[in-house]
Amino acid sequence: MSGKGTLYTVSAPSGAGKTSLVKALVESSERLRVSVSHTTRAIRPGERDGVNYHFVDEPAFTAMLGESAFLEHARVFGNLYGTSQAWVEQQLAEGTDVVLEIDWQGAAQVKHLLPETIAIFILPPSREALEQRLVGRGQDERTIIESRMAQAVEEMSHYIESDFLVVNNDFDLALAELRAIITCQRLRTPRQAAELDGMLADLLR
Ligand code: GDP
Ligand code: ADP
Ligand code: 5GP
Repeated sequence: MSGKGTLYTVSAPSGAGKTSLVKALVESSERLRVSVSHTTRAIRPGERDGVNYHFVDEPAFTAMLGESAFLEHARVFGNLYGTSQAWVEQQLAEGTDVVLEIDWQGAAQVKHLLPETIAIFILPPSREALEQRLVGRGQDERTIIESRMAQAVEEMSHYIESDFLVVNNDFDLALAELRAIITCQRLRTPRQAAELDGMLADLLR
């Protein structure tokens, strides 16, 4: 094994489908894991602590901030979200690729710290589709959906800072496009050269 994985950020307005897409991507890919963020937001029906998020209160989150536990953190919709630095570092060191499902503020922090990070942005096909998905998900109250729709334009305007732009209209097509991005990065010569060192040594002997 080569030893150094690739870090990806996936950002999108709430409801665009990033959680569903990333889940399907990780389930069907080798050596690709998604980081479980810490958050102070309330747990939704069906969510599980440690699986969807590590759910913590504000004092616990602030204590972790004091210990520099987060690679990045941001306040989104009034709640705090942060990515565990130690977990991400360990995965990358082991040669596992890591996906961070984080908002644009977090993606910008990560890109600044680790410029080789690949930033992916997911857009819904239309505003109407975005609202339908937020309503259809059936997990947020009307006022929360309205505030997320209001914030969507601000979030979406940051698409320009990403390296890849995927439109989630047809789910399977968007998933295939995400897979193509991962495959493309894995085929880059420095990564392949590290991966194939034994074979290359044999070919070139
Ligand atoms: P959902 O994206 O609509 O399912 O709603 P969530 O409450 O799960 O996430 C709300 C926002 O917080 C989304 O924009 C996420 O990308 C963002 N988010 C989640 N985890 C993190 C994190 O660890 N760091 C940062 N910066 N943003 C995060
Ligand atoms: P996010 O994590 O970006 O907030 P989710 O993955 O929770 O978004 O998706 C929001 C809702 O939209 C979910 O109910 C999901 O099943 C649905 N959804 C995702 N992708 C599509 C798609 N391509 N077409 C229709 N509905 C979708
Ligand atoms: P498990 O308990 O099955 O090992 O892990 C459950 C999930 O939480 C897995 O998706 C794993 O990747 C994730 N996970 C475990 N520990 C950490 C951690 O310290 N930080 C983060 N971000 N994710 C973790």
